[in-house]
Amino acid sequence: MHVAIIGAGPTGLFLGAALARRGHRVTAVDRDAGPDPDGGWARRGVMQFHHAHGFRPQVGEALRAELPEAHGRWVAAGAEPITFTLDDGRTLPGGMRSRRETFERALRAAVVGTPGLDLRRGHVDGVVLDGSRARGLRVDGVELRADLVIDASGRSGRATRDLRAAPALSGHAGVAYVDRQYRLLPGADPGPMTNPLAWQAEFDGYQVIVFRHEQGIFSVLIVRPTADPRLALLRHGPAFEAACRAIPGLDTWTDPERAEPITPVLVGGALVNHYRGQAAPDGSVRPNFVAVGDAVATTTPMFGRGITTSLLQARELLRRLDDGADPADVAVGFDAWCETAMRPWVADHVRMDAAMLDRWAGHDIDLDQRLPSDLVMAAAAVEPAIRPALPPYLAMLAGPECLDAVEPLAAAVYRGGWRPPRDEGPSRDELVAVLRGAPVPA
Ligand SMILES: Cc1cc2nc3c(=O)[nH]c(=O)nc-3n(C[C@H](O)[C@H](O)[C@H](O)COP(=O)(O)OP(=O)(O)OC[C@H]3O[C@@H](n4cnc5c(N)ncnc54)[C@H](O)[C@@H]3O)c2cc1C
Repeated sequence: MHVAIIGAGPTGLFLGAALARRGHRVTAVDRDAGPDPDGGWARRGVMQFHHAHGFRPQVGEALRAELPEAHGRWVAAGAEPITFTLDDGRTLPGGMRSRRETFERALRAAVVGTPGLDLRRGHVDGVVLDGSRARGLRVDGVELRADLVIDASGRSGRATRDLRAAPALSGHAGVAYVDRQYRLLPGADPGPMTNPLAWQAEFDGYQVIVFRHEQGIFSVLIVRPTADPRLALLRHGPAFEAACRAIPGLDTWTDPERAEPITPVLVGGALVNHYRGQAAPDGSVRPNFVAVGDAVATTTPMFGRGITTSLLQARELLRRLDDGADPADVAVGFDAWCETAMRPWVADHVRMDAAMLDRWAGHDIDLDQRLPSDLVMAAAAVEPAIRPALPPYLAMLAGPECLDAVEPLAAAVYRGGWRPPRDEGPSRDELVAVLRGAPVPA
């Protein structure tokens, strides 16, 4: 069959190459041309491309299963495996340390030239319909016929917006990222770590995360509420550096004697959560059309789930096609799978983000609602019976409902008056004073 894919991000590239290797003719269209001849890659239109990414083990597993050369290139480019040690001493794979750019370059380089895969630069204006059935794409005004249209256009793709019903779950998370990449100087050790993936600290009204990437490169990320514009000053290099000096732990990571910035401060747009099923606005599932990846499920990135949920979806779609699903209605069963396997992750983030903003606004934990998952996990610090339930959730080996059984234990902890301790450091008001004291570039 001929498959036309909107988008050649992680989802489109992975699916495009995997389908071409199965003998299908695939055209993946992206407005981005790939890396420049001089090696740069601005990747406009994918705002998060240069922002911090963590990679869960499912990403490496998906590459090894479908595109082992991409995995090989990723490792050759410096990506480093992470290992988790459990309470009982067993170890588990914890994913890979890598920049998103390093990952996507490796994936792209491995799939370019795949026989049967045409990676085409262009803008998808829309989907060509025959009644409600998808018959192909309109690319820069020209029709491209296909037996199956895959929408892998990501969180901000617009080409199919009118073809699909409004998201079942959606909303701005109320937070935004400001981050910057650094490199450890030769011989310098990494700073403090909260877990093998990251160093994370919760302050009064904001959050800081350091994600380690490959080869001593790391990202410093300050998560701020969008409702408080004062922290927008962080976009200025001197203000960002002043914040780094003022926040204990971060001062160690970014000490100029130990690390140097390798990018300007990167300002992200407002973060969103959304879950959008396959249904058309009239509720029917459109024949010969399927949406995959961030186009279906988008979560705020604090838990680094997006590429995992995208590639899990891509693998599920491949499995269904391998099992002989008709491209005309493959989306029906896929949609049902996404409802049970993807939607709960988005709902989990909606609940966590709303509760975090509430806490940042000075409100106490709402004990009349089911606790958000991060607070269930935090209570494990004082209620050890919660701990065994955490690894499947953290590793995404079971859905967020796997915490339901221990949520009442956590609620009892909070009813008893315990609250997660805040890390030592400036409050948001104090941080604002630090930022205001930094020189503003002309
Ligand atoms: C700030 C931030 C941090 C993140 N951190 C993490 C993390 O730590 N770990 C993690 O796993 N995930 C993270 N994510 C999520 C992750 O980036 C996404 O899950 C991932 O990009 C989804 O891949 P995709 O291919 O579905 O979509 P995208 O990467 O968005 O790719 C979509 C592609 O479609 C193209 N396109 C769209 N419309 C058209 C059109 N009309 N014509 C032509 N081309 C089009 C775009 O140019 C783009 O190349 C983060 C996201 C954000 C916003």
